Amino acid sequence: MRAAILHEAGPPENLVVSEIDTPEPGSGEVLVQVEACGVSSRDVVERNGTYKRDVTYPLILGLEISGTVLETGTGVPADLRPGDHVCSKAFSSCGHCRLCRTGRESTCFQRKAVRGGYAEYVVLPWDALVVVPGDLPFAETCSLGPAAGVALNAVRDTAHVTIGETVLVSGAAGGVGLPAVQLAALSGARVIALTREPAKADALRGAGAAEVVQITQPDFSPAVRELTDGRGVDVVIDTVGSPVFAASFRSLAVHGRYALVGQLNGGEVAINPARVFFKRASLLGVGSVSRAQLTDVIDLAARGLLTARVDRTLPLDSVVEAHRAVESGSAVGRVVLTPHSLAADQIGR
Ligand SMILES: [Zn+2]
Repeated sequence: MRAAILHEAGPPENLVVSEIDTPEPGSGEVLVQVEACGVSSRDVVERNGTYKRDVTYPLILGLEISGTVLETGTGVPADLRPGDHVCSKAFSSCGHCRLCRTGRESTCFQRKAVRGGYAEYVVLPWDALVVVPGDLPFAETCSLGPAAGVALNAVRDTAHVTIGETVLVSGAAGGVGLPAVQLAALSGARVIALTREPAKADALRGAGAAEVVQITQPDFSPAVRELTDGRGVDVVIDTVGSPVFAASFRSLAVHGRYALVGQLNGGEVAINPARVFFKRASLLGVGSVSRAQLTDVIDLAARGLLTARVDRTLPLDSVVEAHRAVESGSAVGRVVLTPHSLAADQIGR
């Protein structure tokens, strides 16, 4: 099979497409024909060397996988069958430890990172895969778990966004940001979307943002306060991290909830603890997606309530171009590779 192999961290050109053996599924594993694989910011930081956890070489990147089940190993539940369309979570879990049994599977001590989507075929533990309806395009379902599922975790299950609240979303045009805008709007909240790029404002309004604040200076909080009659927002969904933390926290209303979802560079933040308790603020860490959350976003997508935006689809041979596009931040929505090279009309583009 053909796969894009990374032999060492570095620039996009380090991704080299080569011919390697097709893997075979072992016990509890599933062989998937990869029809689409989203290029995520985790792929970018693993490729450029910023993210080192569990990274060994040679490596095949790609965790946002959708495709067709070809073969299942022993011990795979009967509801996963050859021919099924599936999409992936970001991690697989053991399924039976205390954390897995209490809805906290993304912190399972035996969790394993999903990778390998930049190839025609991939073998994954069955727990990493959830079946999707056959009529949803692969290019849209590939990012439902690691992007939209995490947004659902942040908006619904961690920050508990509800009707009539005001929600600030940072990195709003990004992979997690855009579905977070859609889901917060779907929850009945008024969404203020933060972006650096004025060209993305239309896409953000289309996703449900009531207001778009363009970041033109480090402290954008006066603009957010003006939109909320000086009160601030009830919830921050922060997919960017340290570059926007100070101004986003300043934008938070008294009794507000601040959900931390992403950290795009390694920078530290400084905060006087008194500012947290004077504001009665809650700081909330958002983890990865669970099977239940992924099942729920698939259902929302199937009902047309959530649409994964695809910036472009590219063949595996254009993996370098794909990484450049994601790293530069020029894409709105997902840049998607199509390793098994289905015809464009079959993947929804
Ligand atoms: Zn477990």
